[in-house]
Amino acid sequence: RAKHEGRNRHAHFNWKMKERQNRTYELEMGLRTAIANGELMLHYQPIFDAATDRIAICEALMRWEHPVLGRISPAEFIPIAESCSLIEPMTLWALEQACRDAMTWDEHIRVAVNISPALIRGDNLPRGVMAALLQSGLKPRRLELEVTESIFLEDDGRTHMILNELRRTGLRLALDDFGTGYSSLGYLRHNIFDTIKVDQSFMRGVGENSRDRAIAQSVAYLARQLDVETVAEGIETEEQLRYARETGFTNVQGFVLCKPIPADQLLQRMRGTTVNEVPTLEGRR
Ligand code: C2E
Ligand code: MG
Ligand code: MG
Ligand code: MG
Repeated sequence: RAKHEGRNRHAHFNWKMKERQNRTYELEMGLRTAIANGELMLHYQPIFDAATDRIAICEALMRWEHPVLGRISPAEFIPIAESCSLIEPMTLWALEQACRDAMTWDEHIRVAVNISPALIRGDNLPRGVMAALLQSGLKPRRLELEVTESIFLEDDGRTHMILNELRRTGLRLALDDFGTGYSSLGYLRHNIFDTIKVDQSFMRGVGENSRDRAIAQSVAYLARQLDVETVAEGIETEEQLRYARETGFTNVQGFVLCKPIPADQLLQRMRGTTVNEVPTLEGRR
């Protein structure tokens, strides 16, 4: 009997795996035509200046509406795109779109685009970034590239070289999800990043966990000493927001402030023309 159950479980496992492979395959096929079919779009999540409550940066977050399967999360389709080299054309598209959108915003607001580790190591990113800037006319200082710590996993010096090359064009670099991976003070020693985004897992615990508190405070302090800006990301409660302010984070981002929204809604919000939505934290209260 035990043997029979074991076999069933095995069959079930195989079936599950098969199903997952099928979905991955279907998504990969879909992604190949997603740009051309206009199925990809960018939503923007504002990042607020903690001192003035004004929008400082808007982070572009990719959205995909599959014609049959509906809305797919980037947490699912970005890894697939990365594994089949579709991430490059998708990112170049996002860069162009984001720069164009940013041209419709106030001069002081920057746009942030997420960049996969594989692209940093590839050959085409610097050229793609330059093209997006030139075509849109956006000032390089208004573009920020967000990269995660994992870019340094297999660093042979090339990663540093490309990041420096990008930065020489005048744009800004942000270290995303700081504290979740292979955080090393070495990145800060080399003066590559303009911004550190402290992962939301650290903000979660600030109410009760004194270790999370200590880490968040130390990172904020260290960054200030190094003249690097900080973003507290994933702020979900008023308590976390108050805490991020007290701790001295430069900027704050999270659902309690504003969720990612389409470009047209963002514009309305910036112009303060919507009835329920207001442009700043101040007005929100
Ligand atoms: P990320 O860059 O760290 O982006 C933050 C994610 O956290 C976003 O999820 C955002 O919607 C979510 N978030 C923001 N505030 C809160 C909050 O208060 N609470 C919670 N629970 N979540 C919050 P999203 O849009 O699903 O994106 C997930 C990840 O997918 C991103 O993480 C990023 O790594 C990746 N991604 C999204 N768009 C792109 C893209 O255009 N290119 C690349 N390479 N990756 C992207
Ligand atoms: Mg990001
Ligand atoms: Mg992040
Ligand atoms: Mg994150």
